[in-house]
Amino acid sequence: MKKKWSLLMLVFAMSALLAACGGADATEKYTVATDNNFVPFEFMNEETGEMDGFDMDLIRAIADEAGFEVEIESMKFDGVVSGMQSGRYDIGIAGMTITEERAETIDFSDPYYDAGLMIAVSEDNTDIQSEDDLAGKRVGTRSGTTSETYIQDNHPDAELITFPGIVEAYMDLEAGRLDAVMYDVPNVQYYVANDGAGLKTVGDILQGEQYGIAFPQDSELVEDVNEALQTLIDNGTYDDIYEEWFGERKYGTESSE
Ligand code: GLN
Repeated sequence: MKKKWSLLMLVFAMSALLAACGGADATEKYTVATDNNFVPFEFMNEETGEMDGFDMDLIRAIADEAGFEVEIESMKFDGVVSGMQSGRYDIGIAGMTITEERAETIDFSDPYYDAGLMIAVSEDNTDIQSEDDLAGKRVGTRSGTTSETYIQDNHPDAELITFPGIVEAYMDLEAGRLDAVMYDVPNVQYYVANDGAGLKTVGDILQGEQYGIAFPQDSELVEDVNEALQTLIDNGTYDDIYEEWFGERKYGTESSE
């Protein structure tokens, strides 16, 4: 009888201990899916061995503000989109454009970055001066992105070639296997300025876009993340991170009003 009693006490004590561990003191940890290469928003920092970039600084600051921890997992861009649809990850941040079509299957935070699309060509190219010159040209971009849809919808006469990673498209452009690459303005500009050997941008910004943080549908995190994002915009942290990666603020964010 006594033995049974102490066993019961033990079980009771252990469940109380477990409850304490999993309770209010333990910080919640969420998985964050990101793109493995989309400069300067997310990329592998070879020196630290960690993912680095504007989005990475932003999501870490949001996590600090909202009081949770993040575990970053990097993958191809289309894996981030499908990882939200399947609910495999809790959060996705990958310079992901908020589109009506995506919003049917995933949830987005308030917009956090204003972007758009732009064309890069080889420095010595004189035939392509804007999107009006793309007919019959080999135009590269990345699969599953807004640029792919834009080219399909607006330039059916161009020869569209898609790549799993955008860097492969830039390399083919450098090697003369493509006539042009169309991609997100900040990425094209950053690549051309920092890595692109002999490339230049041409034409105007083609389509206004806004990036949002993504979640599986009906995620309870959306509100907390929006609140934390707004705090970081109001207290200047957003601007500090922005300046670190882009210099002085060129594109605003609507949510700062
Ligand atoms: N903004 C683009 C999109 O959402 C591309 C993003 C990316 O390559 N990471 O389709």
